Parts: sequence; C-alpha cells; structure tokens
Amino acid sequence: MDPSRDSTRFIEIGRHVDTPVAIANVPVHRASTVLFDTLEQAETAGRASAAGRPHATSYGTTGTPSTLALTDALAAIEGAGHACRAALMPSGLSAIATLMLALLESGDHLLVPDSVYGPTRAFCDGLLARMGVAVSYYQPTADVTELEAALRPSTRMIYLESPGSYTFELQDVPAICAWARARGLLTVIDNAWASPVFARPFDWGVDASVLPLTKYWSGHSDVLMGAVVIREALWPRLWSAVRQTGVCVGGDDAFLVLRGLRTADVRMRRHQANALEVAHWLASRPEVRRVLYPALPSHPQHALWQRDFSGASGLFSFELNPDTTGGAKPGFNVATAALCEGRRYFGMGYSWGGFESLIMPARLDGVRSVQPWTGGALIRVHIGLESAADLIADLAEGFEALHKVSERA
Ligand SMILES: *Cc1c(COP(=O)(O)O)cnc(C)c1O
Repeated sequence: MDPSRDSTRFIEIGRHVDTPVAIANVPVHRASTVLFDTLEQAETAGRASAAGRPHATSYGTTGTPSTLALTDALAAIEGAGHACRAALMPSGLSAIATLMLALLESGDHLLVPDSVYGPTRAFCDGLLARMGVAVSYYQPTADVTELEAALRPSTRMIYLESPGSYTFELQDVPAICAWARARGLLTVIDNAWASPVFARPFDWGVDASVLPLTKYWSGHSDVLMGAVVIREALWPRLWSAVRQTGVCVGGDDAFLVLRGLRTADVRMRRHQANALEVAHWLASRPEVRRVLYPALPSHPQHALWQRDFSGASGLFSFELNPDTTGGAKPGFNVATAALCEGRRYFGMGYSWGGFESLIMPARLDGVRSVQPWTGGALIRVHIGLESAADLIADLAEGFEALHKVSERA
C-alpha cells in the first residue's frame, strides 16, 4: 500500500505556532515526546530530570510546561515559607501509595490514625504489609505520651490525618511533629479537608503532605489527581519512586486543577459560610444528637481547630438521635435511605470537594480497629456552593421522609 503523497506533510504541518499573543493561562501541553536540538541537550536534560532538578524534563512522564506550572503552584502554596518540592500523581490515593513506597522499607513500622481514609488503610494492610512494613493504628486523639507507648525500635513514620475521615477528630499536629522530629521519625499528613486556603501543615512541622487535588484544589468534580509536597531534603527519595513507578498526569488534567486553584480562596469561604449555617441548623434539630464539625464550639477539639486552622471546609458529619428517629441505625438502611435518597440538591456519592452538595451515610464497620463506632446513624454531608436556605429546606424534607418510615416501622 503506497502512502499518500501527503503522508510526510501530515506529520509536519501545524506544529510551529509562535503566537505573539500573551494569554493569561499556561496552555495545555499534551506530550509524551520531548524534542531536543542536539545530543548534548538530550543528555543534559536526561541527567537533570533523573536527578529531579527544578523544571528539568526529558520525557512526558518527567514534566511538561502544564504540569511544571502546577507543581510550582503547589510547592509555593502548600509549602509557603519552606523549601519544598511537589510531584503529581493520578489520584490522591496514588499520591499516598507513592509517598509510602518512597519513604518506607521492609522491616519498618508505621503508625496510622484509626480514622484514616479507608483506602489508605487498605493500602497499608494490603500491599504495604506484603512488602514487609508493619502497620499499627492509634487512637486519632492520642497525645505524644500515648504515641510514645506505641513506638517500636523499627518505627519510621507517623502518619497523620486531621480532621480524620467521617468522625473529624483533630490531632495536635505541631506537638506530634516536634516530638517525632526529636526521635528521628518522619511525619506525613493527608491534608484533604482544609484545602490550600485553611491549613499550612509545613508550619506545623510535617515532612510531607498529601494533597488529594481531586477535592477542593480542583473543586469541580471533573478531575482525579493527587500530589505530594515534600521538604527538599526528602525530594530525591520521592522523585526516585515517582520515576521508578512511572506515575504522572496529563496536561489537560493539570490545566483543570490550575483553573480550579485560581478560585480556591473564594470557593472555600463560601463553602465555610454555607457549612456553618447548615451545621448550626442541624445542631438545633431534635433528630440530631451531635454535629461533628471542628468549626462548631461543641466540637471536642474546637480549641485546636481555632489554634491551627484559619477556616473550615464544607465537609462534616452528624449523628442521628435514635430516640427521635425510630432507632435509626448506622449504615445503609431504610431510615438512612429515607433521609438521603431523592434529595433535590444533595447528591449521593463517595467524593466531596466539588461545587455541589453531597450526602452519604457513613459505613464504619471494618474500617476502625482501635475504636469501633458505637454511636447512632452517622451521616456525612458535603456542603456545596448553593444557597444555604435551599440546602436546609432540602434536609428538612429528608427529616420528614425519615419520620414517615420510622412511624411505619
Ligand atoms: C478522597 C480522599 C483521598 C483520595 O483522593 P482520590 O483522588 O479520590 O484518590 C485521600 N484522602 C482523603 C482524606 C480523601 O477524602
């Protein structure tokens, strides 16, 4: 089969647009191949990107202008005031896994809070355990004395997540980091909840922070991505793991996260204002036993939140009062379905951090080993950017539906 006369031109045409126009955003660069003019350039770029030097790339996996713009932004915001670098992974969970593979080795012991994000626990108990890393779980509110008692000679890392998933316990991260540093232990935090706007974990003293960019950083429920931001001294270990596992992201997704980031500050302040209004209303309802939201004075560690965070995001839980809800039980059942299904503004889904509101009953059986959940039905809500009055009316209808099924029961 003869190639068409134009086959060479198909490859050649339309590749060299040197636009004289300045545009506000970094364009989307889609790239596997990076081209060089000379062999010397290729060699130098290869060496520099293998060493993880800033902005060095030799192939799409090591960076494009789109992904480098994003890693610059993340290191500058999350690591503000500290010498940090950032690397991108295709999801938040992938960032957690890559970071642990980078910093831990066979024979190491790792301490993880009991309220850790469920899939992180599955990775720790699964692949990580199989690789010979011993994992134990600690009470999320454990102080340094309790953590000290859990140490083994092989303990290498203290994993942190504050507030914890679903139950929103806060950790005294600065105290834990100071204590860990004095013992030569690494500290790593999952900083999903607070967003770039409300928390600065490097000021608290962490060695690395995991950012599920899928959530507030991108903010529009249309992209999956994660990042690790890490102190310069640990960067070579992380970069080596990134190179060996080949984790990377595409330019289109990097563009979406950068676009989300531009409005993170205004979005977060609206999430917070709406969430406070809805949380106060929930706390006043007879159907609700308590609201688990660090920004409410009723939260057991409200003082820690006031000290360490500059705001609260739109994610929190509330526990139903069994006495006023026909004995509603935790998990997926007729009562929690009545409350959550068919809401007008609250969708049901496992994610959060987008512009829209979500509701989901928590299922904690099997994901808590230190302190099993013994309370009533726990419902997690993500408060979006809608009007708080509409969200409250929607939840009020949910409570009415719940009363109807509990009367029937
Ligand atoms: C969603 C989430 C992640 C993982 O992010 P993905 O991009 O969905 O993999 C990690 N940690 C916490 C606390 C989360 O809520």
